[in-house]
Amino acid sequence: SGVVVDAGKCTECGDCVSSCPSNILSLPEGAGKSAEETKETSPEPSQGSAPAAKVEKKAAPVPGGDVWSGVWVVIEYNRGEVAPVSWELLGEGRKLANDIGCELAGVLVGHDVEAVIPEAFAHGAEKVYVVDDPVLKDYRTQPYAEAITDLVRRYQPEIILMGATAMGRDVFPVVATKMQTGLTADCTVLSIDPNSKLLLQTRPAFGGNIMATILCKTRRPQMATVRPRVMAMPERVEGRTGEVVREELGMAEDEILTKIVDFIKGDAKSIFLDKAEILVAVGLGLASKKNMVLAEELAEVLGATLAGTRGAVEAGWITHDRQVGQTGVTVRPKLYIAIGISGAIQHLVGMETSDSIIAINNDPDAAIFRVATYGIVGDLNEVVPALTAEFKKRLQ
Ligand code: FAD
Repeated sequence: SGVVVDAGKCTECGDCVSSCPSNILSLPEGAGKSAEETKETSPEPSQGSAPAAKVEKKAAPVPGGDVWSGVWVVIEYNRGEVAPVSWELLGEGRKLANDIGCELAGVLVGHDVEAVIPEAFAHGAEKVYVVDDPVLKDYRTQPYAEAITDLVRRYQPEIILMGATAMGRDVFPVVATKMQTGLTADCTVLSIDPNSKLLLQTRPAFGGNIMATILCKTRRPQMATVRPRVMAMPERVEGRTGEVVREELGMAEDEILTKIVDFIKGDAKSIFLDKAEILVAVGLGLASKKNMVLAEELAEVLGATLAGTRGAVEAGWITHDRQVGQTGVTVRPKLYIAIGISGAIQHLVGMETSDSIIAINNDPDAAIFRVATYGIVGDLNEVVPALTAEFKKRLQ
């Protein structure tokens, strides 16, 4: 939409054009003359009731012109595992590519990736760009960024997406910087503007108080990372095939500044929330930090990961990276145990699609019960130790 200018105050001096950080303003034709000239030639704004004039945004030329085409999804593959968000994004990419009328491709950077190629087709890719090299065995920023950027420069995709995982958050900003284009991190909604065909990249902003839709109008590719488990997993269709495009890395081990010395796998306690199968989440109902031991013991028995509400983060019981919800992480574990959590909408949006939800709350009207598979109305100080003892008996 245009920027609304108060015609009563605008002298058409042009200062806004030169100081606009986004370079989106221009003066209407014939404007930008000296103040004296302006006085003579401009119609006198009627006091108070002047209609707001629109300053049109100037469309800078897109580098590469029309040749930027296609929706790409970087398939995150590391140590024999594909991050499931990659498939979620192929599902989402399919819709975007259909709306634009272009091709959907997967990008596979790593070592020994052959087995992943048919999976990419099965999840909807029409083409897969592959860079397979021993140097790419373990993830490192430099060679991965180089490989992706080389592909982007050579084949010029219009849109490129990746999961907002540790890897995506690390490599995509480097690629965006190399390409001198924009990147919207942590998107929760993506769509295509039907008129301009631009990618509408929506994400929470200002602490989640607003949802901002961000556009990358003049640079290519349009880049976004998307939180895992926000987009639906597409149907996997066995036997679908497509084109495979292979490229060389063009980089040797001795050119890479970082070396992997050791790889220490995280346990259930320390893994990222979006990868956890069982989450034990705490809320302010816990009343004090010393009661965290109740949740910790339950998590220990179940091999679960601890999480919680913003209330629990603000109380200092868990760190912010464990916060579930609108301004935290979106999760979809097999089991979500909510202890002393009221079920505010900002929390529910981050966990309501979990496979099973057990909620423990002493208020029978608590909103969390509306999304719970099993609701236990009772005092968490009694219910949680009883559950822990019972699970201990059955799981040992
Ligand atoms: P409360 O709402 O205080 O609930 C405590 C619950 O514990 C109550 O239901 C109570 O009945 C129960 N209880 C008390 N004692 C016991 C007991 N002995 N046994 C059993 N049950 C008991 N919140 C998030 O979680 N994630 C977000 O990402 C997030 N983003 C936000 C963004 C914005 C812009 C805003 C405005 C808010 C956001 N919030 C978020 C905050 C959210 O609105 C709630 O304030 C918060 O989720 C409430 O946390 P809670 O459930 O721990 O606490």
